[in-house]
Amino acid sequence: SKELKPQSIVIAGGGSTFTPEIILMLLDNAETLPIRTLKLYDNDPERQKIVADAVEIILSERAPHIEYLATTDPKEAFTDIDFVMAHIRVGKYAMREQDEKIPLKYGVIGQETCGPGGIAYGMRSIGGVLELVDYMERYSPDAWMLNYSNPAAIVAEATRKLRPNSKILNICDMPIGLESRMAKVLGLESRKEMDVRYYGLNHFGWWTDIHDKNGNDLMPKLKEYISKHGFSLEGLGKDPKENDPSWMDTYRKAKDVYQLDPYTLPNTYLKYYFFPDEAAEHSDPNFTRANEVMAGREKRVFGECMRITEMKTAKDTKLEVGAHASYIVDLARAIAYNSHERMLLIVPNNGSIVNFDPTAMVEIPCIVGSNGPEPLTQGEIPRFQKGLMEQQVAVEKLVVEAWVEKSYQKLWQAFATSKIIPNAKVAKDILDNMIEANKDFWPELH
Ligand code: NAD
Repeated sequence: SKELKPQSIVIAGGGSTFTPEIILMLLDNAETLPIRTLKLYDNDPERQKIVADAVEIILSERAPHIEYLATTDPKEAFTDIDFVMAHIRVGKYAMREQDEKIPLKYGVIGQETCGPGGIAYGMRSIGGVLELVDYMERYSPDAWMLNYSNPAAIVAEATRKLRPNSKILNICDMPIGLESRMAKVLGLESRKEMDVRYYGLNHFGWWTDIHDKNGNDLMPKLKEYISKHGFSLEGLGKDPKENDPSWMDTYRKAKDVYQLDPYTLPNTYLKYYFFPDEAAEHSDPNFTRANEVMAGREKRVFGECMRITEMKTAKDTKLEVGAHASYIVDLARAIAYNSHERMLLIVPNNGSIVNFDPTAMVEIPCIVGSNGPEPLTQGEIPRFQKGLMEQQVAVEKLVVEAWVEKSYQKLWQAFATSKIIPNAKVAKDILDNMIEANKDFWPELH
């Protein structure tokens, strides 16, 4: 086999609870993506240190040949880099909690990426992600940024508009997670045994066609299953070890979303747009998803990191390989070694969906090689999806315009346009509360 050039990678958002699993996943994939340097970068030194000290031990035991550095200094972090893997959360979980709880005061669902919560988070993330792009271009102008920081739709629109020539690829794990569930339903070993067609916006899309490698149509079996169980795996008879309760609700609810268009399979996030009242009613205003993560995942992962650091070994660690995140390796490999992998990416539409805004950032299959993604044409889409997507893309574009122009008016319009928010009065009330809560993060609006 041909020699693969080892890569230098910086993970931005080093203090993320996902970082240890992503490091383990990178080590697990070292044969197809060899690594010479790994760096962690964050702007919160205390938080990153919890993860970084454990990662140092993991690497010294399992891959001592990899040069390792954890830093909060952009110059050190972004110099001599091939890839920036970006998963930052501007405002951290404390602000996610606000994104979820402020709308709930008005009976509106507060969610990480959809509706008012997603808009607020977008207004925080744009500056943070642009800053990473600028560091990368200053210190490693040939590098690529693989971004999976949320809200991906708004971040992607901001980079399209404000950094149009930057080498940044926006990717989401939700379709990948759902395709893994479909593969289980079909009894396949891997989602990679399926060829999929899909179109939409990020967290707002539909599968239109799924075939196996022999050309067999897999849609009928999937539709039958999803019409009964959504994406929950409860219908498989086994009792799979499942995630947190809020995710189980989301997987199950896809069966109701599916009824709206039985020709396609929906992304689970569409439930927030079609059943916003129900989502709000099912939320506990005192204990939202942010609380669930802080009490669950964050305690577990940080606890384990601190245990590793104290024991000075990770030989017996319970931290698992973040296998589902291997799409990041697929993407890096496609760029580094020109593998022409077919992947769903968030890219400028530019005619791929023929009857849709060419300047919209859409999520569609692309062939990825060293020169970036080549999007695959999706043809015309039906009125139902087109109407929904036009409304939602208007929200995303208005948010980015509001951020650029520091415009209160445009941000109010974005809130009022969101399908999740019932009227312009509620939109204004939520907005005014959010301005107050976000004053350390948003530009000052006028
Ligand atoms: P987290 O809070 O655990 O970690 C994020 C880290 O980013 C924190 O350590 C924080 O200090 C750091 N950070 C914040 N602003 C920064 C900045 N301007 N510069 C550098 N570092 C900064 O959050 P998490 O739950 O791990 O999520 C991280 C991000 O990844 C979120 O945006 C989340 O939605 C996203 N995510 C995306 C996918 C996907 O596939 N799209 C999957 C999972 C998580």
